[in-house]
Amino acid sequence: MRTALISGAGIAGLSLAYWLTEHGFRVTIVERATALRSGGQAIDVRGAARDVVTRMGLMDQIRAAHTGTHGIAIIDGKGRQIARMGGDDFGDSGGIVAELEILRGDLVRILHDALAPGSVEFVFGDTIAALTEHGNGVTVTFGKSGTRDFDIVVGADGIRSGVRDLLFEADVRDLGYYTSYFPARMDIDFDGWELMYCEPRRATLVYPVGTSGEVRAMLAFSGPEIPGARRDPKALLAKMFDGVGWELPGLLEQLRDTDDLFFDRAAEVRVQRWSRGRVVLLGDSAFGGSLGMGTSMAIVGAYVLAGELSTAGHEQAFAQYQNEMSEYVTRNQKRPPGSSGFVPGSRAGIWLRNQFMRLLPHLPGRKRMLGGIEKSANAITLKTYTRSVSPA
Ligand SMILES: Cc1cc2nc3c(=O)[nH]c(=O)nc-3n(C[C@H](O)[C@H](O)[C@H](O)COP(=O)(O)OP(=O)(O)OC[C@H]3O[C@@H](n4cnc5c(N)ncnc54)[C@H](O)[C@@H]3O)c2cc1C
Repeated sequence: MRTALISGAGIAGLSLAYWLTEHGFRVTIVERATALRSGGQAIDVRGAARDVVTRMGLMDQIRAAHTGTHGIAIIDGKGRQIARMGGDDFGDSGGIVAELEILRGDLVRILHDALAPGSVEFVFGDTIAALTEHGNGVTVTFGKSGTRDFDIVVGADGIRSGVRDLLFEADVRDLGYYTSYFPARMDIDFDGWELMYCEPRRATLVYPVGTSGEVRAMLAFSGPEIPGARRDPKALLAKMFDGVGWELPGLLEQLRDTDDLFFDRAAEVRVQRWSRGRVVLLGDSAFGGSLGMGTSMAIVGAYVLAGELSTAGHEQAFAQYQNEMSEYVTRNQKRPPGSSGFVPGSRAGIWLRNQFMRLLPHLPGRKRMLGGIEKSANAITLKTYTRSVSPA
């Protein structure tokens, strides 16, 4: 039985674990966090990724967990809606807000539960410290749990991939802003809309989880990189959002107490060759930083990578994986118009962006402008790979 070590139990890692076990691999996942990371807001499952989750038998569960929000509404400091962008304004899968949104934590749980019990070994709270390839495998030195051999190693460890850092040359382009996500509670009426409030260089996006008062908050701010920002992100966020209006004081209070904070600097990743010897990259580690397509590309990439490995040895399979994926990835890494104005730098910039958002759903060419996302999301023809394990 061929063995695979996957670094990262995110969307890419869990999807790959599913498909590799279906193709007869023995899979181990090493995850830096001490448990599955369930944080984040809603993410989108678009285009070909829907085919893949259907092939995994998960479409009904994903549809059932669909958040049901209508789209994003921009509000002023008094909470009044001044522009709206609905999920159905641009056609299915076509807009900035996808029609099939699901909380990242729900998708992580669904993907994890799709693994046959006991079929995947999880090593939490550890990372890969070194990789040494030899004639018939890779010797992996873990940070804490010693040394083991595997046939292949996959870096599915996100935008700041440790596997990538060990072996690959990458172009990691800074996108100029920090993002953070944390769960909170808010006692306001969302009426089914995700609410966005901006002040210069700072954006707050709050995602309601049903009508329970539970929300997922995102705070983002733009500006140059701050040395040591990751040392105390809570203090940094509190400083950056100090004095910001709307419901920020209450959110900052809850930020102080949360033990579920995701904080990172946005980046776009380009890696020329996604594999080196027996080691390969998948998901954000290889092609992170698209706007709204990262999850779908991770799901599709997992399907293709595992499928190719089921038909050939690692060398040919890795080359074929990149071959099959490259056009789809290139098209989906293009950022749609307007995305650079995510956190405008001035009140005038915010006003202009709001006017654009207000007009967008009514512009005659809107589907052409943003409908490109739908075409790109489907810009791959999925092969059928025979499973060695019959689906349950
Ligand atoms: C907690 C969290 C919240 C997020 N929230 C959002 C969101 O709200 N909206 C959005 O668009 N995208 C969000 N993302 C990113 C989004 O999940 C990905 O862009 C996309 O789904 C592609 O998935 P991925 O598996 O490549 O990366 P990720 O989903 O980021 O998964 C990477 C996994 O690797 C683990 N990891 C990182 N470094 C190491 C290491 N050195 N060794 C071992 N494991 C490691 C991480 O803990 C994580 O579990 C979030 C990611 C995380 C981790």
